Amino acid sequence: MNLSERFRALKPSATFAVAARAAALQKAGVNVLSLGAGEPDFDTPAHIKDAAKRALDAGYTKYTAEAGIPALREAVAEKLASDNGAVYDPNQVAVTVGGKFAVFAALQGLVNPGDEVIVPSPYWVSYPPMVELAGGRPVYLRTREEDGFRFNAEALDAAVTSRTRAVILNSPSNPTGAAYGVAELERIAEVACRRNLWVVTDELYEKLIYGGVKHVCLASLGREIYERTIVVNGFSKAYAMTGWRLGYMAGPRPFIEPLCAFLSQTTSNPTSIAQHAGLVALTGPQNELLAMRDEFEARRDDMVNRLRGIAGVSCATPPGAFFTFPNVSRFLGRAAGGRVLGGTIDLAAYLLEEHHVATVPGIAFGAEGHLRLSYATSRTAIAEGVRRLAAGLAAL
Ligand SMILES: *Cc1c(COP(=O)(O)O)cnc(C)c1O
Repeated sequence: MNLSERFRALKPSATFAVAARAAALQKAGVNVLSLGAGEPDFDTPAHIKDAAKRALDAGYTKYTAEAGIPALREAVAEKLASDNGAVYDPNQVAVTVGGKFAVFAALQGLVNPGDEVIVPSPYWVSYPPMVELAGGRPVYLRTREEDGFRFNAEALDAAVTSRTRAVILNSPSNPTGAAYGVAELERIAEVACRRNLWVVTDELYEKLIYGGVKHVCLASLGREIYERTIVVNGFSKAYAMTGWRLGYMAGPRPFIEPLCAFLSQTTSNPTSIAQHAGLVALTGPQNELLAMRDEFEARRDDMVNRLRGIAGVSCATPPGAFFTFPNVSRFLGRAAGGRVLGGTIDLAAYLLEEHHVATVPGIAFGAEGHLRLSYATSRTAIAEGVRRLAAGLAAL
C-alpha cells in the first residue's frame, strides 16, 4: 500500500511494546512482574472522579472551546503563577488532549522542515518522532550518568548550529529522573536567549520530586526566557489521571493564537467531562497528591537500595519521576541459552521471557547499557521484581 513516508517511518513506542509483550505472557498464564509501568499505579482520587460524574449528570457533554473551558484555563493560569512563579493570562493557556499532544502541538508550532531540535539524551521516547513529524531533525545532546544525566549550558551552546530552532527540556526526566536546579537553568536560559532558541519544557513530573529538591519552571526565570518558552504540564502523573487524556500548555501571546487554530483543526477540544474533573484536581484538596508523592519517595529509596545490592549493577538516586535507571552495561555481551545478549533489547527480552520480569531497555531512550525500572507499583512487586532481575543477571 502507498502510505506516506511519514507513516512508514514511524515506529510504535518501545514502552508500549514491552507492556504488550508482558500482557501477552500474562494472558498465557505466566506470572509476570512488571517494572515497566509508565503511569502511577494509584487510582484517580475520588473527589476528582466525583467531579466527572457530576459533570456528566449536569450535561457537560458538548464541544467546548478548543483551548478548554474558561474556568480551567483560569485555574491553570493560577496554578502556574502560584506553584511556578510564571504569570500567564488565562488566554495564554491551552488545555490539551494530554501533555503528550501539547508537546506535539508545540513542535508543530515551532519547527519548519530542516530545522534542528536539540533533544537531550536519554530522552522520552516520543520526542524524536514528534520532532520528525514536524519535519525537523532531532540532534541528540548526550548527558552522562556521572553528571546526574543533566546537560549544562556550555554543552547546549556547543550543540547549537545556524539551523537550531528549539531545545526540549524535561525536568524531572523520564527515564532518568534527573531534575535541574535554578542556577543551571539560569545558565541554560542565558544560552537559549543568546542563541535565539525556543525551549519546550516538559514538566509533567513536577509534583513527583523528592528529598527536598525544588522544581523550577523555566518560564519563571525572567522576561526574556519567558518569551521563548512553551511550558507543558498535565494531570496524568501528578493526579494519577493518565487515561483521562488531559494536559495543558502555556506560552507567549504570539504563539497562542495560531496554536488555538491548530487545536481547533485537529483535536477540537479535550473531553468536556475530563476538563471538569481537571478543574477540581487543580482547585480541590492536594493531600492525596502529597500522599502519593511520599509513597513514591519511599519506594524509590527501597528500589535503589535493592538495586545497589546486585553485584555488577550501579544505580544513582534519581531526584524525581518514578523510575530508576540502573547501569547494567557489565552484563551486555554475555550469553544466555547459547544466545549473546548484545544490547538492552536482548537483555530485557531475556529477563522477561526467562525470569518473568518486565523492564524497558535503555536503548529505547537512546541510552544503551541501562534499564528503566518503574517504581509505580507495589512494594511487594518491587521486592519480587528486583529479586527476579538479580537472579536473571546472576545467571548470565
Ligand atoms: C507521561 C509523560 C507525558 C505526557 O503524558 P500525558 O498522559 O499525555 O499527559 C509527557 N512527557 C513525559 C516525559 C511523560 O513521561
